[in-house]
Amino acid sequence: MNETSNKTDQKKFQYEIEKMINDLTMIIVFNHQGIIQYVNTRFIEVTQYTQEELLGQAFTDIFTDDFSTMVKQAANNKQKWTDDIRQQKKDGTHYWVEANFSPIIDNATENEYYVLIQREITERKKHEQMMERLAYIDPLTNFPNRNYMKKWIMDKQDAADTEITILFIDIDRFKAINDNFGHDIGDQVLITLAKRLKKSIHKEAFICRYGGEEFIILLQNQSKHEKNLLLNAILHAIREPVRIDYHELLLTASIGISSGYPFQKDSERIAVLEDLVKKADIAMYHAKKQGISNYHFHSSNQIREMERTYQIELEVRDALERNEFSLVYQPLINLKTNKIVGVESLLRWDNRLLGKVSPMEFIPILEETGLIVPVGKWILHSVCHQMMSWQQQGLFLQRVSVNVSPLQFRDPHFVSNLKEILHEARLDAPYLELEITEGTLLDIENSAKKLHDLKELGVKVSIDDFGTGYSSLSYLKQLPIDTLKIDKSFIDDLDRDGKIIVNTIISMGKNLQFRIIAEGIENSDQFKYLQQQQCHEGQGYFFSRPVESDRIEELYHSLQ
Ligand code: C2E
Ligand code: MG
Ligand code: MG
Repeated sequence: MNETSNKTDQKKFQYEIEKMINDLTMIIVFNHQGIIQYVNTRFIEVTQYTQEELLGQAFTDIFTDDFSTMVKQAANNKQKWTDDIRQQKKDGTHYWVEANFSPIIDNATENEYYVLIQREITERKKHEQMMERLAYIDPLTNFPNRNYMKKWIMDKQDAADTEITILFIDIDRFKAINDNFGHDIGDQVLITLAKRLKKSIHKEAFICRYGGEEFIILLQNQSKHEKNLLLNAILHAIREPVRIDYHELLLTASIGISSGYPFQKDSERIAVLEDLVKKADIAMYHAKKQGISNYHFHSSNQIREMERTYQIELEVRDALERNEFSLVYQPLINLKTNKIVGVESLLRWDNRLLGKVSPMEFIPILEETGLIVPVGKWILHSVCHQMMSWQQQGLFLQRVSVNVSPLQFRDPHFVSNLKEILHEARLDAPYLELEITEGTLLDIENSAKKLHDLKELGVKVSIDDFGTGYSSLSYLKQLPIDTLKIDKSFIDDLDRDGKIIVNTIISMGKNLQFRIIAEGIENSDQFKYLQQQQCHEGQGYFFSRPVESDRIEELYHSLQ
């Protein structure tokens, strides 16, 4: 009894297991001629063929051509294999399986058979495809993303001499759209612009959303003329007004272009592509510098320029600690008496690696990095001590002027620091003049308050490079400003049409009680003309180049 029940249990168990396998796997057996000998119910359920339609049929009639070829090859080589395969049902729809193929020999007859065991994995494949989509497709625009661009360049079967051109497109001032209209509108703008970009390019061109408001288009083997046409078409397409809800937005783009040959070495495709993207990005930055809605072709000079800027940025950081800064002084001359009345201090930098670097190059970097605040403090400190030391030597200059950059001027501690520095150097405030530019005055509220605080402290203020900005003389008159320095470019133009401007500044400026200085006087004609116009003071190579502090004593006596 016990033995019988054991046997029944075992059979039942075996049956359950077989049923489970049958429910999960599809089994197909065919002979060496490729004729199907057996299919299980699961295969019939999935493919929707009837048993009659399958048994006795040629394997190749039921399965896709690719798959049949694989199976035939494996059968010939008597190989086992496992792979993920896409199969077709009777109605033509597809499903995915993980297929195991193995040849078996029937020992009794010595006939050879082939068994194909398949497990359906359509859901897993769908999930994988969705994940792949997420990794490669930008959900907002449905464009490929930057990862896909790399995959594209790797997968592409192109000749080594195929030239790829990168258009790096950046929507100008896009941040303002997000800030003013919100991110939803910003997103819709991007979708609209993406559609327009897609429309303006050929089918073979590859387009991707590279980042926020940046798109990249990859072109192959296009002439410069074709590129120019396309670039203009793109800029034009972007400029069309974008209407969203009741808003009408006007946008422009800047495009940087670079070209190269990524297909020359397979192992370097990605590196070459990344280098081209970097170059196109730099060119885009130059396009923006030229003004909005512009394009710019990359040139190797720009890379050198960027590298130098980068190196300056790196080196200037510790220049103060390394004592690499120094100051030179350029005399300010009274044009009536020809006497030296003051000096302007000018910063110099002699770097251990780069040598002497022009202030025109490194001061904007000091500004961008905020380093101008500590360096500016050092300048003021050094200049005030220098002025005191000259006074102690019996050298009585009416004033020393110091250039103050906008960021330094905006520093909330600027006035209090200056007060401390003057106090510490025991220098009377009226001996110091600060040179600011018209740009600094744009931040009206803040600068007016600072100017009044400075006035109270007793230091003088002059407007440097006057005439290059937009401030009117009558506006300046409302502020406590002492001196206007006419920009060098007008003095350069005196023998052309600069006279009218210079005369106007001098006569109006004098009426409004400003002291007027002409900068950059290089020859006696300019000097005489300015003298005639009764410009108060002058500065320039004609009198003296900027010199080190110890040479000022000499000049003081020779220019007396
Ligand atoms: P800036 O304040 O307008 O200084 C005048 C510039 O013109 C100086 O150039 C000076 O050397 C140059 N210069 C003077 N006379 C002549 C001339 O006759 N012909 C020619 N061709 N040039 C002349 P530098 O020293 O290279 O300074 C350039 C600019 O860098 C300055 O323009 C100023 O904006 C900035 N800078 C210089 N030193 C400082 C500083 O200590 N602090 C700040 N914030 N900026 C400074
Ligand atoms: Mg100056
Ligand atoms: Mg100037």
